[in-house]
Amino acid sequence: MMNRADPRSLRAAVEAATSADVERALASDVLSLRDYLALLSPAATRYIEPMAQRARTITLQRFGRVIGLYAPVYVSNECTNRCAYCAFSVTNLLPRSTLNPDEALEQSDALRRMGFQHLLLVSGESRTAVPVEYFESLLRRLRARAAYLALEVYPLQTAEYARLVEAGADGVTLYQETYDPEVYRTVHPAGPKADYAWRLAALERAGDAGVARLNVGALLGLHDWRSEGAVLGLHASWLMNRYWRSQISVSFPRLRRGPNGYGPSHPVPDTALVQMLTAVRLLLPDAGIVLSTREPAQLRDALLPLGITQMSAGSRTEPRGYTVPCDEGAQFDVQDRRSPLQVAEMIRKAGYEPVWKDWDRVMSRGAAA
Ligand code: SF4
Repeated sequence: MMNRADPRSLRAAVEAATSADVERALASDVLSLRDYLALLSPAATRYIEPMAQRARTITLQRFGRVIGLYAPVYVSNECTNRCAYCAFSVTNLLPRSTLNPDEALEQSDALRRMGFQHLLLVSGESRTAVPVEYFESLLRRLRARAAYLALEVYPLQTAEYARLVEAGADGVTLYQETYDPEVYRTVHPAGPKADYAWRLAALERAGDAGVARLNVGALLGLHDWRSEGAVLGLHASWLMNRYWRSQISVSFPRLRRGPNGYGPSHPVPDTALVQMLTAVRLLLPDAGIVLSTREPAQLRDALLPLGITQMSAGSRTEPRGYTVPCDEGAQFDVQDRRSPLQVAEMIRKAGYEPVWKDWDRVMSRGAAA
């Protein structure tokens, strides 16, 4: 995919787009690459309102008034990487731990009591602390207790993804962090994550292994958002074409303050986030769009009708966070600190239905069993 996508020429096309290009894109039912790049352009900043309206209409047509709710379960904060922006970097001092299977079940039970049926298992990158066998056995134990199980862990080989699908994994979330190879090298100086190409091809391997949902994203703030948005849209589009049996979702995580005062070198304002999110919705009407508790409550409420299909709620970003909260062991500060019930209530008040259980997935699992 990346061999065909030259970030510099994409960026140049974004900069060169005119108002006429933006208007043509807004009038198109099916966007070309050129249309998409126009929607990311400086010229499109005057068209945010019509872009938002269009995104809202398309999302209602394709997804109705339904928002899926999920919660992360951090099973380990042990990591061998040195990502400059992450509190779990191996060089940072913080309380490290990995849940044993019973402790992981305890977290999932706590989330079930809050209403969650959709869990995202998250870990740092340590094949020693959390080998593939760990996830395999955990998924087998969790599959009877959750309707939907996704993983946000280190990149795996195709055969390993296939083992996890067999064990009950429905989805894989994996962010490239930045699509710019130079910036990537700078912020991932050591550890297995330093391998840009291996990470970039991970969702392709997951798709080959039959993972039902693939969630792509970039950590916004590491590099110019227009460049990242251009390649992110292409990556998601490429995955949709190639893995048409899988559902493709896009996330837009924004980098907050990291360890040792590390901050975004390219801050992404709210208006830019709206522009990118709505441009992706117009390019990919059938893609899921995921919004996490990294964003503050007020902004999440405002973004909800613009294309969001899934939201996390009540998230804790440290192991055992739902039973023994410990901010010192957390990956990042959650901005939206409302309870899951408060988020569900907000969704209802906005005229949407919060959905805790993915019935499509339950049915297809039942059919496969
Ligand atoms: S971003 Fe992931 S791989 Fe990098 S330090 Fe954090 S947990 Fe480890």
